[in-house]
Amino acid sequence: MSQHFQFLNLPRAMPKEVPVAVRVSNYAEIYGEFDAAESKAQASRCIDCGNPYCEWKCPVHNYIPNWLKLVQDGRLFEAAELAHETNPLPEICGRVCPQDRLCEGDCTINEGFGAVTIGAIEKYIVDEAFKQGWRPDLSRVKATDKRVAIIGAGPAGLSAADRLARAGIKAIVYDRYEEIGGLLTFGIPPFKLEKEVIKTRRAVLEAMGVEFRLRTEVGRDIEFQALLDQHDAVFVALGTYKFVDGALPGLHLPGVHYALPYLIANARRVMGNQASPIIDLNGQRVAVLGGGDTGMDCNRTAVRQGARKVSCVYRRDEEAMPGSRREVKNARDEGVEFLFNRQPLAILGDRRVEAIRIVETRLGAADAKGRRVPQNVPGSEQDLRIDAVILAFGFRPNPPAWLNAANVELEASGLVKVNGRMRGFQTANPKVFAGGDMVRGADLVVTAVHDGREAAAAIADFLGVAV
Ligand code: FAD
Ligand code: SF4
Repeated sequence: MSQHFQFLNLPRAMPKEVPVAVRVSNYAEIYGEFDAAESKAQASRCIDCGNPYCEWKCPVHNYIPNWLKLVQDGRLFEAAELAHETNPLPEICGRVCPQDRLCEGDCTINEGFGAVTIGAIEKYIVDEAFKQGWRPDLSRVKATDKRVAIIGAGPAGLSAADRLARAGIKAIVYDRYEEIGGLLTFGIPPFKLEKEVIKTRRAVLEAMGVEFRLRTEVGRDIEFQALLDQHDAVFVALGTYKFVDGALPGLHLPGVHYALPYLIANARRVMGNQASPIIDLNGQRVAVLGGGDTGMDCNRTAVRQGARKVSCVYRRDEEAMPGSRREVKNARDEGVEFLFNRQPLAILGDRRVEAIRIVETRLGAADAKGRRVPQNVPGSEQDLRIDAVILAFGFRPNPPAWLNAANVELEASGLVKVNGRMRGFQTANPKVFAGGDMVRGADLVVTAVHDGREAAAAIADFLGVAV
């Protein structure tokens, strides 16, 4: 049979999953790795349809059919090279992108046959190429005398650092944390993204000439003005860190936790920092409020801590959940109970959390964004007995005052305003560029990677450096 019809014979497959009973007892990634033969076989399911919707839907517009072909031909290093042309962090996106609503969701054979396993192959290409000794080739890069400060070592900052290094521009990345990665390290749990992956990427970036100055909070340990004075341009990618609390009564009670401090504390322990304080939910009945990726990560972390029961409360139906379908399935497989169409009304307790009051909802008319608004059903209130609550409602911008002081303009919401000049990443202060969650609002790793890549190109233009 012609190679174009491989998908008729060969079903879609994911790398082997660790069985539930094993994976909930540790924090290792739950998916294994394809080997060369499996990658080749799965890549051969691509029909090279000529109008690759996958490529358009991928926010960094990866050359997906082209690197799938290179994998089929066994040309691994060329595939790694090509993957990096569009994506500075392909092994990370291959692991954490919600492929079901991005590249794989738009694969031509998705309907009826199952999409090509794009994310897992992207991860295979780079993991395996790194193992075999491939590294980005900067031998033809001409060093310039330009220096750029990047504030924030999250995906936006790392992506910009990669592109600046490839343009011969010295990138110095400042971050308040002890390790690079931003939410890749201190947010997304290791069962989705093992921290060794980020350590490998750090070594690759350092070998490219990127310098990291960690445990350095701009505005506290160093002034923003000093960075402006010492560099030719600055890229700010601070993320969004103001927690939404839903203004629920009872928020003050012991047993109420916010998603990010909960996940960060756990991540530090898993990374071996035994002195770091932890929120331990072992033996407790836990309600996680929120239906996004953060909520799923809290659900599955609580399961691994040995929570007696984990219930995820979400005010809309399953269809409307913002989280990746794959992560909802994983949480369900691991024993999480989903309470859809339930609105939390209050956290109840005398001296600590004892219950949460919830009410049923029905979805009403759509709002301006096209999302149907949940309406409470009178008389359907119910108290759920629990010991702990995790609030995973999302994040809002928290721009530091020093940005305004440097004439960087903000939207009313607190997001950083960028203009149409310089590819849309320059702020009102021409020397300051911005991207990632602090410009878009809380979004995705791959969109932050896109912004870092494009902002670096804009900075190179601004500095008159050819890329
Ligand atoms: P961040 O990753 O937030 O990085 C910002 C960095 O700036 C941080 O390291 C911070 O320490 C640093 N910083 C801030 N202020 C200062 C300062 N003054 N001085 C020095 N450093 C500073 N997306 C996905 O695509 N897939 C997922 O599965 C997924 N899961 C998620 C799970 C959780 C729990 C959360 C919270 C988010 C998740 N996301 C996921 C979203 C994704 O992680 C973010 O959209 C992405 O990390 C944003 O990148 P960023 O570089 O803009 O910001
Ligand atoms: Fe798919 Fe994300 Fe990779 Fe793009 S970066 S091909 S959306 S997994």
